Amino acid sequence: MAANDQPSEIGLIGLAVMGQNLALNIADHGFRISVYNRTTEKMETFVDNHPDTPGGLVGCATVEALVSSLKRPRKIIVMVKAGSGTDAVIEQLAPLLDEGDILIDGGNSKWTDTIAREQRLAERGLRFIGSGISGGEEGARFGPSLMPGGQEDAWKALEPVWTAIAAKVDPDTGKPLLGAKPGKPIEGGEPCTAYIGPDGAGHYVKMVHNGIEYGDMQMICEAYDLMQRLAGMRPAEIGETFARWNEGVLDSYLVEITADVLQQTDPVTGEPFVDVVLDAAGQKGTGKWTSINALDMGVPAPTFAASFAYYDSYRSARLPQNLLQAQRDYFGAHTYERVDQPRGRFFHIDWPDPERPQRES
Ligand code: NAP
Repeated sequence: MAANDQPSEIGLIGLAVMGQNLALNIADHGFRISVYNRTTEKMETFVDNHPDTPGGLVGCATVEALVSSLKRPRKIIVMVKAGSGTDAVIEQLAPLLDEGDILIDGGNSKWTDTIAREQRLAERGLRFIGSGISGGEEGARFGPSLMPGGQEDAWKALEPVWTAIAAKVDPDTGKPLLGAKPGKPIEGGEPCTAYIGPDGAGHYVKMVHNGIEYGDMQMICEAYDLMQRLAGMRPAEIGETFARWNEGVLDSYLVEITADVLQQTDPVTGEPFVDVVLDAAGQKGTGKWTSINALDMGVPAPTFAASFAYYDSYRSARLPQNLLQAQRDYFGAHTYERVDQPRGRFFHIDWPDPERPQRES
């Protein structure tokens, strides 16, 4: 554990891509943050690689060390694999905490799980916030959209940190303020966070947000499919068209990254990158939950369930899910499989890196 003569403002458990970036964002805003990861080497490498953040990272080799390093009431962010990982961490932490301490689940948890966790923890006198976090690894690092739900007094305790690290928009134009760098976050602007409501409200909003996003991505993939199949356009040409569209009313992050992905060359073969990505797209549950919830509530939401693609799926050897998975690798480091490698081997491109090397994960 690093030298720790003063207590940390906040703690974070789970140092995969999201947890690392969120911790750096918090430290860039001057908050001292204690970090723990189940696999200790990841924590050690992370802390060693970032010795000079404005707030300071305090590496903790055990959950007990993390708990004892925090200001009271303690605030601990859980950024681990949603589901059983979240429950395992909560069960490990809860007996070590005192009444009034606050756990913040920043994972993509199902909102009904969040309600159940909040009730279980309230019986032990602990407070709980379920917060959606959007923006992928880049957002986590320089400004995510944050959707917190839970007890309002717990939100008040978390608000200074969440408001500081959230993405900022120009209040006059509504446009995002860009250009944050390591150690130099955006000053001013209106933060992209607000108290959503009690219980699982934050995770519910994040779920619907993901459902809309997946519907949008599916539409983009179908546009790409039509452009290549019917118009005979090559990926780079389609990418240039998306880049032009991004300068008009379609200006959006998803259209921007689609233009980038389509103009990317595969670092291994020199072929267009999307042509070597297997048409197998993953999802971690939120898109499916949105469709199920829409059916349960009698709300028509056919786009989430992926519109006319069912017809193509009967008659196509290859579907445009290659582009969708490439988008997921771009914004969330979700990895992709290749057409020229056996199934089960996963690769990732370091998208913000101009050289964009590929590595196996
Ligand atoms: P992830 O791949 O979902 O999870 C890996 C992390 O979980 C590692 O730190 C791992 O520890 C830890 N973990 C898994 N099971 C555990 C257990 N039983 N006990 C303790 N730790 C456990 O990581 P991620 O992509 O960074 O996402 C973190 C969370 O943020 C997830 O809930 C995800 O849904 C959510 N999220 C992700 C994105 C995105 O774009 N990627 C965006 C928003 C929200 P080890 O290192 O020891 O294996």
